[in-house]
Amino acid sequence: DIQLAQRVQRIKPSPTLAVTALAAQLKAEGRDIISLSAGEPDFDTPAHIQEAAVEAMHAGQTRYTAVDGTAALKAAVINKFRRDNSLAYTADQILVSNGAKQSFYNLCEALLNTGDEVIIPAPYWVSYPDIALLADATPVSVFAGQSQSFKITPDQLEKAITPRTRLVVLNSPSNPTGATYEASELAALGEVLKHHPQIIIASDDIYEPIIFGETRFANLLNVCPELATRTVVMNGVSKAYAMTGWRIGYAAGPKPLLDAMKKIQSQSTSNPNSIAQAAAAAALDGDQTCVETMRKAFEERHDVVNRKLNAIPGIQCLPSAGTFYAFPDVTGAIAQLDGVTDDIGFAQYLLDHAGVAVVPGSAFGAPGHIRLSFATSLANLEEAIRRVADVLKSA
Ligand code: PLP
Repeated sequence: DIQLAQRVQRIKPSPTLAVTALAAQLKAEGRDIISLSAGEPDFDTPAHIQEAAVEAMHAGQTRYTAVDGTAALKAAVINKFRRDNSLAYTADQILVSNGAKQSFYNLCEALLNTGDEVIIPAPYWVSYPDIALLADATPVSVFAGQSQSFKITPDQLEKAITPRTRLVVLNSPSNPTGATYEASELAALGEVLKHHPQIIIASDDIYEPIIFGETRFANLLNVCPELATRTVVMNGVSKAYAMTGWRIGYAAGPKPLLDAMKKIQSQSTSNPNSIAQAAAAAALDGDQTCVETMRKAFEERHDVVNRKLNAIPGIQCLPSAGTFYAFPDVTGAIAQLDGVTDDIGFAQYLLDHAGVAVVPGSAFGAPGHIRLSFATSLANLEEAIRRVADVLKSA
């Protein structure tokens, strides 16, 4: 028997990737499965971005780059922050990585010691607690349910802070709920954080452009610029430009912390893929209409999914302000099914009886819910929801 490290025994594989893989396997076996589990846009990477990658390859950009990213991509990132977020950074405050997932991993590895606490508002992206655990820290989740629109209050934040709190994670728009903090709500959270100078803030803005209706994106630093000395902003091209497979994300923040994160990356993965960096620079610098085209499609699907889910007895879904996820409360539906007692059983039931793959809410720290991704065609979505409604009706 091979004795594995405690570190790896503390964590679990990503449950969203697991459901996606299971759905793909069942499909390959010939089952009629509609997967609403994926955390990625269903669109192809826009042609001008693909073209930039081809050109980069032909121009010989096939070697190691600087660990923290090419000068061209860092310039594009700095320009993006200035253009979209009114935030000013210099090149030595930027670290480009293999996706925003690695940005968060680098941050945790660079910052956290055993026993340090990381405050993670729930429902949360599945990877935050596990990446904190990998860094020997203790995740502390603060739950915000439907009744508070999935947003934590300043009071909840204050109560969760202890002398051991080292990091607070903000993710708006949120995976899995789509909840998006208004500028005034961020200001109120920032007011609490101002009184705790030992705390670093991670602002994960990866869903920034996928936002609906009247909602406007805001970053904590827009309303609390004085927190810039201890805030790391993370973003990337995966969701905005349908570039999940290219693996490019980036972080910006105080130089000493970014230097430490760069050191971690230099001794683990080195630079992210050189060709993907050229593509990401083209994405950030180029025509942004592709972003708006995808955003509109997601909004249209959101409206249909939200309306149809709420028409099913036992399912309650808040309209979300962004992202491509719906996160309904399904406790009523669970109660209608014999032998099903929780969201994990419910997701299994939908897979077995309706051929619809969703992710159980427990994976996101919110039992009694499921996450449906609407990164698939309207026709697929309508068919999937019709099937769910049918199996519940006939149960
Ligand atoms: N942050 C959130 C909230 C996410 O949902 C994801 C992807 O699912 C990521 C970060 C990581 O994205 P990537 O590593 O592709 O940049």
